[in-house]
Amino acid sequence: MSGNKKVLILPGDGIGPEVCNEAKKVLNHVNLSHNLDISIVESEVGGVAFEKFGKPLPDETLNLAKEADAILLGAVGGPTWDNLDYDLRPERALLGLRSELDLFANLRPAILSKYLSDSSSLKAVKVQDLDLLIIRELTGGIYFGEPRGTSDNNNSAFNTMIYSKKEIERIGRVAFEAAQKRNKILCSVDKANVLEVSVLWREVISDISKDYPDVELSHMLVDNAAMQLVRDPKQFDVMVTGNLFGDILSDIAAMLTGSIGMLPSASLNSKNQGMYEPVHGSAPDITGKGLANPIAAILSVAMMLKYSFDDQDASLAIENSIQDVLSEGYRTHDLEGSEDKKLSTTEMGNKIIEKLN
Ligand code: NAD
Repeated sequence: MSGNKKVLILPGDGIGPEVCNEAKKVLNHVNLSHNLDISIVESEVGGVAFEKFGKPLPDETLNLAKEADAILLGAVGGPTWDNLDYDLRPERALLGLRSELDLFANLRPAILSKYLSDSSSLKAVKVQDLDLLIIRELTGGIYFGEPRGTSDNNNSAFNTMIYSKKEIERIGRVAFEAAQKRNKILCSVDKANVLEVSVLWREVISDISKDYPDVELSHMLVDNAAMQLVRDPKQFDVMVTGNLFGDILSDIAAMLTGSIGMLPSASLNSKNQGMYEPVHGSAPDITGKGLANPIAAILSVAMMLKYSFDDQDASLAIENSIQDVLSEGYRTHDLEGSEDKKLSTTEMGNKIIEKLN
């Protein structure tokens, strides 16, 4: 990698390479048009890496990831590798990258394009102009807590939900700062009526709120938050929560916006080094058919430019060109629309670049 800013692309499995190819075309385009001085390198992750190196996150990939300023990941996994041992499964590569790079803050915007309000699972009136950001703690909580395992001859199993004050504070600060840049409304989600870990979560978030007097903070129990997301999602601006609750709530929010093929995400560490990826998986059912929607991957590039490279102009140029394409009625196969304007994965990538021009 020789440019000033280093991007590592990890296409992965299934539709990962198809959507990453379009995202890479867009990144190359804005790299030139906005003089971004980015150099790009590619490597293997997930099932393809297992086939070549015998593990889903080879050392070479991990070293490239550590050197990069930002990573674009397609997707990992698929039926070929479903029966592998837990540590060899493609999805382990994601957990490995997150923990090795300390990517503790997962940002998942759920924005409904005004041209797609018919694609949402809710009535258009409930979701018109929806624009919310879910911030999920990504490297702690029950997915990583020790002890974990099975006991009593496999007749019982257990996991540990644990958060330190430090872990809660750093994700809390990311959320307050994000809220400051938006509508200054933050909802912290927990289960403080049942879990001690949530009582601590609530205390720490309330404590640090004193440093952000311009942000209006509320607390909500996770079961209510799930209900409210479906009842009246527009009441939310930024939501912050732990790993498990965030996993579930962000998938609910995803469906409010129509297709999983539209949703990007960012996972950041304290140096703003980030891994950017579409929310969707490897979609084995449509792999190789030209049916994958590349917009989530392309919007992940827009997030990369915004959060890791602080280039709002280039980021906005990508977002606007996507809106232009949608406003003209062009759709991929996962989105409602007229048949004569249905585009393949590559055609959608090309259309977006046409608008960037
Ligand atoms: P999935 O997201 O791959 O697919 C769910 C459904 O959405 C499928 O019908 C698929 O065709 C459709 N879909 C997904 N992305 C699309 C796109 N860009 N355009 C159009 N349609 C799209 O979820 P799944 O089927 O539960 O999982 C498949 C594999 O992906 C599994 O091995 C799973 O472990 C893995 N997975 C990986 C990630 C990741 O890499 N971050 C995330 C989720 C699932």
